[in-house]
Amino acid sequence: MRRFFVEKAQDPFVLRGESHKHLAVVLRARVGEEVTLCCGDGFDYVCRIESVHADQTVLSLIDKRASAGEPSVRVTLFMSVLKGDKNEFVVQKATELGVEEIVPVFTRFVQAHSRDCKIDRLRKIACEAAQQCGRGRLPKVQDAVSFAAMRERLADFQAVVFPYEKATKLSLRDFLRGRAENVPATAAVIIGSEGGFADEEAAALQQSGVTPVTLGKRILRAETANLAVLSALMYEWGQWA
Ligand code: SAH
Repeated sequence: MRRFFVEKAQDPFVLRGESHKHLAVVLRARVGEEVTLCCGDGFDYVCRIESVHADQTVLSLIDKRASAGEPSVRVTLFMSVLKGDKNEFVVQKATELGVEEIVPVFTRFVQAHSRDCKIDRLRKIACEAAQQCGRGRLPKVQDAVSFAAMRERLADFQAVVFPYEKATKLSLRDFLRGRAENVPATAAVIIGSEGGFADEEAAALQQSGVTPVTLGKRILRAETANLAVLSALMYEWGQWA
């Protein structure tokens, strides 16, 4: 069944503007057809198209059910801003992997220009990816923040996953398995840019009580690290069943 995001839940749903055009003109939806509408609140609204007009489509609600596409852990990805179109790649894949929120961060060794981080474009990509993969929530893509602003938010999370290229003691696997019995409700993941983290950034995070983890002997590219860590987290914390 086709699904897409709308602004808010209603019964009946009256879609105008872009959502109406998308459904009636682009997807050529017909009266009687069933579609699933989502408004980002974690529910799927199964609806029937009642009428299609020039300027609006009206749908009646058949069933409201909790979206099956949402992980139980709400993950915020603090991704250091990357060069070129790699930010878009990470946002698309992170959305498929189930993140709740994506926050681009200007860490010290970011090599990208601020123009490489087009937030409106990233939001559009997240929306398309969420629709395509059956999410019930639209991940929030926040405006880019400084390292200091990111650090201030960390106390809000039950777990903070910080892969650091110079870490040796604790592996990502041990870190995640240590929390697998009692999966946190919220978690932050912090990934460096092509230039990695500055020593003082790693030290500042450790002062905030965050333990760095290693991903092993090979240094992954930043975009790979973002997706590998999210995949491992979702897998180890039972979200792939
Ligand atoms: N230029 C840096 C590496 C940056 S890799 C250097 O040569 O040291 C980009 C980011 O991916 C890192 O900041 C870290 O968050 C993550 N990462 C990649 N490989 C990793 C590894 N083996 N262990 C821990 N983190 C890793």
